[in-house]
Amino acid sequence: MSSNAQLFDRACRSIPGGVNSPVRAFRSVGGTPRFIKRAQGPYVWDEEGTRYIDYVGSWGPAILGHAHPDVVEAVRTAALDGLSFGAPTKAEVELAEVLIERLPSLERVRLVSSGTEATMTAIRLARGATGRAKIVKFEGCYHGHSDSLLVKAGSGLLTLGNPSSAGVPPEFVAHTLTLEYNNLQAVQAAFDQHGADIACVIVEPVAGNMNLIKPAEGFLQGLRDVCSRHGAVLIFDEVMTGFRVGPQGVQGLSGVTPDLTTLAKVIGGGMPVGAVGGRADLMQHMAPLGGVYQAGTLSGNPVAVAAGLATLRLIAQPGFYEQLSRQTLRLADGLQQRARAAGIPFAADAIGGMFGLYFRDTVPASFAEVSDSDTDAFKQFFHAMLDRGVHFAPSAFEAGFVSATHDDSVIDATLDIAEAVFGEMKK
Ligand SMILES: *Cc1c(COP(=O)(O)O)cnc(C)c1O
Repeated sequence: MSSNAQLFDRACRSIPGGVNSPVRAFRSVGGTPRFIKRAQGPYVWDEEGTRYIDYVGSWGPAILGHAHPDVVEAVRTAALDGLSFGAPTKAEVELAEVLIERLPSLERVRLVSSGTEATMTAIRLARGATGRAKIVKFEGCYHGHSDSLLVKAGSGLLTLGNPSSAGVPPEFVAHTLTLEYNNLQAVQAAFDQHGADIACVIVEPVAGNMNLIKPAEGFLQGLRDVCSRHGAVLIFDEVMTGFRVGPQGVQGLSGVTPDLTTLAKVIGGGMPVGAVGGRADLMQHMAPLGGVYQAGTLSGNPVAVAAGLATLRLIAQPGFYEQLSRQTLRLADGLQQRARAAGIPFAADAIGGMFGLYFRDTVPASFAEVSDSDTDAFKQFFHAMLDRGVHFAPSAFEAGFVSATHDDSVIDATLDIAEAVFGEMKK
């Protein structure tokens, strides 16, 4: 048996930083990442055989809990018929039809293999369809790792942003305007100045990549109005929120209809599936019908599609989201009560099967506010919980996820452990 520490040492000799996606490396909390050997329901087990209650959920996909038997069976059955064909399949048509049926804003949908591909494609499509170059995004929203989206806000409201990654030439983000989340006035000002050049606004309609931040009353409708007025495409990036916050994503909860939607995570049920969908007249611009190029060797992969279809079928059961929301709220409220009883500045928020934990007095509404939380307290909390068998995301700036298998006994066990941890933190 190898320990997590031994495996991490070994990993670092063959993989940069020992991980295949940076947040897994525990850099913002310190310590050694757990190497997961297997997972079932609400639990993951590491290579040392230690069991953890898991609130990472593969960063969103595991909405049914890990290794749901029906999903695993669907994957096994599909695999027996071949892993990939590079030709159309009936199952991918079924997945497209299910997505269109569930999300009223979707008239056509193209399957890809990740959220990054979906957002990159949506932006190219918006630019191709409008013939405009500029895009608007919001500080703290993450839309995958394509060049023009790796940008941080400049110092002034309408100054150009800077690349947030080495290897992205400033010219590549020169058309990306980065504005403050929940600040409609900034959006209005950007359109006043650049309206005729703005192809699209892309937004996480509930932000889940700067911890959890909900849209302020009227923010999404305001984006809808300003985009319609200026002929810009409104893109809801529902890669995280789609089928996670409710049966129709944030668009269903808010009643605001985007022109394009990007999806991934839950729709793949733990396998690599992404999607971009929306208005037929916009989607018509994609190759082979139109001039916007997009392709993928493994797009609509039959094994991945089988996992997605099985997942979408199971989450359509009556009462699924009521139960998921109830359990998530029970966790968030329970943690807040116990932290505050221990005198620790703490707030929590939840929507559907997503939650946010903040070591500050109030729920934040922007990147600036969430950045103003006690990250040392978070680190202490994270490690103390991990030592006692509860695995939260290893960063104060990530949302958490609850699955359908997090029943009362799992949530209560978490809250009991948290009460002990908060009590110790006070000292
Ligand atoms: C996870 C995520 C992405 C990127 O998806 P990948 O599958 O990791 O490429 C894009 N947008 C949002 C909102 C996400 O949460």
